[in-house]
Amino acid sequence: MVYSAYCSVITEEIIPDADKPLNVNSESPPVKSTNEKNNVSDPANWGYDLYPERRGEKYKPSWAKVIFRGEGKENLDKLRCEENVYNCVKNSPLVKLMLVALKSSGCAVDLRRHIACEVCDPSVSGGYDPLLNQVVVCQNVARSKGMVQGVLTHEMIHMFDYCRNTLDFRNVDHLACTEIRAANLTHCSFLSAWHQGDASPFRIQQQHQECVKTKAVQSVLAVRNVTEEEAAAAVNRVFSRCYDDLEPIGRRIRRNSMDMYKAYLEAPFYGYD
Ligand SMILES: [Zn+2]
Repeated sequence: MVYSAYCSVITEEIIPDADKPLNVNSESPPVKSTNEKNNVSDPANWGYDLYPERRGEKYKPSWAKVIFRGEGKENLDKLRCEENVYNCVKNSPLVKLMLVALKSSGCAVDLRRHIACEVCDPSVSGGYDPLLNQVVVCQNVARSKGMVQGVLTHEMIHMFDYCRNTLDFRNVDHLACTEIRAANLTHCSFLSAWHQGDASPFRIQQQHQECVKTKAVQSVLAVRNVTEEEAAAAVNRVFSRCYDDLEPIGRRIRRNSMDMYKAYLEAPFYGYD
């Protein structure tokens, strides 16, 4: 399986290949299927090579890496990462809203069980592991509180979609849809749409949609062995439906705005409390 590396802020999922059956019984809610990992014949095909600790190994840097790249501080990184996670859970309105929404949808998050700080491939900053229903925060990449908030929100949108049972990771259209939603709700702010291209005030809405499409295609490509055309086709097929689905945040978050606070305050009106 070929992975493409993008900028270090990209957050990707640990998702199986489209052509390799999951062994998940589609009748039962996927969030309850947590024991399928043992059925994976070749973990490398599932994106696990981006997340070495998912194979059950503790990350051990070689001596060369310790000396030349300053690695070997994994325990310290893990502590700092866990501190950032804890801080976001206590203080970030977005993360709190996602936790509340997951809880009222029947998928309450237990920090110790569902969020893991790990060493990952440097091309990714986080991931969602549907087999274990776990969010992975890459402690060696997502080093600031802001990045951890981004990873947690993005990955918990996938967790939410999985919880709602609307997500079959074998289906590339479903994967495209949840990536569109994650980019739409959190990444493509007004400002980043502005910076990404030749935006004029009249073209902002179009720019925003382009930003979401670009980001979603990159995310699909990073975890699936498909061509760019195939990824773009999947994104286009489901775009309008998934772009308009703003659950559970209810709005597109603009940078440096009160949006995330408003979203959190309004959550109870939409049944998330
Ligand atoms: Zn994603």
